[in-house]
Amino acid sequence: MSNKEAPAPASNFLRNIIERDLEQGTYAQRRWAGQPGGAVVQTKGEPDPAKIRTRFPPEPNGYLHIGHVKSICLNHGLARDYNGAFHLRFDDTNPEKEEQEYVDSIVESMRWLGADWTSPFAQGEQHLYYASNYFDFMYAAAEYLIEAGHAYVDEQSAEEMRANRGDFTTPGTNSPWRSRTVAENLQRFREMRAGQHADGSMVLRAKIDMASPNINLRDPALYRIKRATHHNTGDAWCIYPMYTYAHPIEDALENITHSICTLEFEDQRPFYDWLLERLAEGGLLTKPLPHQYEFARLNLTYIVTSKRKLKQLVDEKHVDGWDDPRMPTLVGLRRRGYTPEALRLFCDRTGASKANSWIDYSVLEATLREDLEGRAARAMAVVKPLKLVITNFEGEPVACSAPAHPQKPELGTRHFQFSRELWIEAEDFMEAPEKGYHRLYPPRVDEAGVTVPGNKVRLKYGFVVECTGFKKDEAGHITEVHATYFPDSKSGTPGADNYKVKGVITWVSATDAVAAEVRLYDRFFTEPHPDAGGRDFLSVVNPKSKQVVTAWLEPSLANAKPDDKFQFERIGYFVADRKDHTAEKPVFNMAVGLKDSWGK
Ligand code: ATP
Ligand code: MG
Repeated sequence: MSNKEAPAPASNFLRNIIERDLEQGTYAQRRWAGQPGGAVVQTKGEPDPAKIRTRFPPEPNGYLHIGHVKSICLNHGLARDYNGAFHLRFDDTNPEKEEQEYVDSIVESMRWLGADWTSPFAQGEQHLYYASNYFDFMYAAAEYLIEAGHAYVDEQSAEEMRANRGDFTTPGTNSPWRSRTVAENLQRFREMRAGQHADGSMVLRAKIDMASPNINLRDPALYRIKRATHHNTGDAWCIYPMYTYAHPIEDALENITHSICTLEFEDQRPFYDWLLERLAEGGLLTKPLPHQYEFARLNLTYIVTSKRKLKQLVDEKHVDGWDDPRMPTLVGLRRRGYTPEALRLFCDRTGASKANSWIDYSVLEATLREDLEGRAARAMAVVKPLKLVITNFEGEPVACSAPAHPQKPELGTRHFQFSRELWIEAEDFMEAPEKGYHRLYPPRVDEAGVTVPGNKVRLKYGFVVECTGFKKDEAGHITEVHATYFPDSKSGTPGADNYKVKGVITWVSATDAVAAEVRLYDRFFTEPHPDAGGRDFLSVVNPKSKQVVTAWLEPSLANAKPDDKFQFERIGYFVADRKDHTAEKPVFNMAVGLKDSWGK
């Protein structure tokens, strides 16, 4: 599939569900007051102009990675395609691990990706929300559950609770605190909130069914005591809601229709529904309620995406920070040269499914290549330089030129010189050529004692040259290659066609080339499934995943600005590093290699 034709959105089961809901008018009666809220707020609102509402709910405890991109593109794309609204919600109900630094980075990455949370319906309405702003509602909902006999304060120790939960084969055992009166529960819960009990001494639990075959329904915890300063609410609370309690409420307050999450939450869905039904019965929420749907998380080979493992790579300095171009974080991918378009294409192409599977890393790389092929300016660069001396060249350098892009004349023309001393790639010369090698090699004397001339190649956009010899140092390293050029063979002149050569190589002239630091990257792990079967993923880190070289670049690259992307002809796509690149000290990162279509 080419990226020139607009790719049809990968048809997936979520689209089918949404289309069915739209057809049946499942969510047609909802009201929206222009802000999140329970029944009291929303019933005063207008009919919701958004046909559906989806959300991306990151916990601000780390940087976004490629797996999150999948979820963002999915949720944002569905809202966009079905006349809906997309919310960005910080799921910041856990005070311990969350930081403003992560909130800021997530906002910036989302903007860059183009996943906009501005309402398409109401001017100025921003759907950027914080779950911690719903703490009051969550608390009131908990008191309601207690009053309705659906929740109780349990004072068992953590070990007792674990033991009494049972397992897949054994039903659980009721807590001795389960039959407390409503008044006792309410009092205890208010004491918890007032800070009269120690951290961990008791929890609020839902009263559902300790014998349920679904362990998530065996009286799950709703609130815990935790004295910790929260990044948004400070020290206002010493009790915090559990994720499984908070999340459905967050969705409901925001009028989310399709709450899309990854498969590991499938067993939580019955509790999600139970909780929202109870709160609707109590008049705290209006129907229709949000519904949870699960899809398979993105698993990509040769990377890890667990925040804990990524943090370990950073903390233990296996990489140069969260935005190291080898990291699968959004800040890393961006610095590597990935574009929002390539990432969105990747998400569309890999679709959303119900079954877990692995996507090969090359699928991601292919989307970047496809995106940059059509728009990155071309340039010549020599990343592993070897000197080529044109022994019959005398005088002033000759001006040469090439289009910046073969299909885009509007991008203009590049200019560079040809002279006596050039740089070529070390691998474009072989002293003793292997079979089928069509690049430079020196003359030799064959078995019959006859001298066979050295090979001829075209220096792209320049002249045809014939290899005449080379020099080596004492250690046996080739230090320079010698050739003669054919003055009437210049590309674009009538004489050029008189020369038939099998090899074309890239080069730059020592007279105008620009020196640059170039960072060449390879896969970060040597194994496709770095943490498979409990293996320590650090044991399969590729020691050669980053190589820094001093390269010679065509002079047109002297004007590159940070984030500018180029195709270094025959090598791959490169980006001027957004942190370190300056006009005085150019730094380029390798984004992705070209699919190698070059004959030997
Ligand atoms: P991690 O496992 O890396 O800690 P997380 O799921 O805990 O990630 P959250 O911030 O809670 O991180 O995730 C926000 C959203 O991104 C969730 O809805 C989650 O399902 C989704 N998400 C996370 N990882 C992936 C993935 N690999 N593929 C698809 N969606 C993902
Ligand atoms: Mg999570």
